[in-house]
Amino acid sequence: MGDRTGIAWTDATWNPWMGCRKVSQGCAHCYMYREQSRWGRNPLEVVRASPRTFRAPLTWSPLRWREPRRVFTCSWSDFFIEEADAWRPDAWDIIRRTPHLTYQVLTKRPERAAEHLPADWGTSGYPNVWLGVSVESERFVERLECLSKVPCQVHFVSAEPLLGSLRLGTLRGLGVDWVIVGGESGPGARPMDLNWAREIRDLCQEEQVPFFLKQLGGFPDSRSHEQARLDGRTWTEMPILGGGTRTLASVAPSTDNTSGKRPLSTGVPRHLEEFVERLRTKPRFTAEARVTISLPPVGVPGGVFLPDDERRPCALCQEFHWEGPCSIDRPTGTRHQVQKGRGQL
Ligand code: SF4
Repeated sequence: MGDRTGIAWTDATWNPWMGCRKVSQGCAHCYMYREQSRWGRNPLEVVRASPRTFRAPLTWSPLRWREPRRVFTCSWSDFFIEEADAWRPDAWDIIRRTPHLTYQVLTKRPERAAEHLPADWGTSGYPNVWLGVSVESERFVERLECLSKVPCQVHFVSAEPLLGSLRLGTLRGLGVDWVIVGGESGPGARPMDLNWAREIRDLCQEEQVPFFLKQLGGFPDSRSHEQARLDGRTWTEMPILGGGTRTLASVAPSTDNTSGKRPLSTGVPRHLEEFVERLRTKPRFTAEARVTISLPPVGVPGGVFLPDDERRPCALCQEFHWEGPCSIDRPTGTRHQVQKGRGQL
């Protein structure tokens, strides 16, 4: 856990508590069980993290990062597990005090979410919290229906490990803003039929919902996320933090070169200024703009997706490299501000 992670769809992990009970077939090969057992701990025992770990996000200074960060919360437990009811208010307090971090809370217990939100959650949730559910098979689609009733800025679904064909229904109708798909890896991995992933990918394309293919799984051979290609390409779409305008405009001039890294851009490139202006002046998708625009209120996560063929230099280093981290901020593992995706022409 910490401010680095190998999980492709996030930037950091935070585990204010650890340990969990298995609730469905997707938990069968839970990596947390393997890891905890390896360290001689009982994975069934839910324990609060040390004060240092619990408070870690308070030390993750925004001054260290050039862009907002995503934090996968409770990767070694379930944020809404009963045993953590007494500790959760403290976690909400930390989340509230760190608006520069975006917390990705993924649960298999969405039925407990509505009853365990903070008092000041409001009608649309904290701007820096995304809520997601794991749906590994058709049998658990009801988790998504349950989560959709909980207000939040971004609802997402993680179909990992995907164990069967999923009929997710109308994603937009259920308020789904993002879908992650992945096969199972590790010992005893169960196979994922690529057609199951295709079905979900196609549905996302149809409904203009960002689609992220994390990995193909470990069966029948090792297909890690580096090789997670479907129909000739990788799929790494995601909601972009802070909305299009804010994200692009956050390319701030910097004279800081004391870290030994290459200096950052001395300003927002002209074409990005124009792009930001287009976002401001065209609140609807148009053929001329050749971009898909989602402009939520300032400070609210949203999405901007560029057509595959509309290549623009990285806002940080001015080079063309759409996938993988920018070479400038590789030491911190952060990713691009402008992401490859589908445009609506
Ligand atoms: S809910 Fe998540 S953390 Fe808990 S056992 Fe299942 S997979 Fe593991």
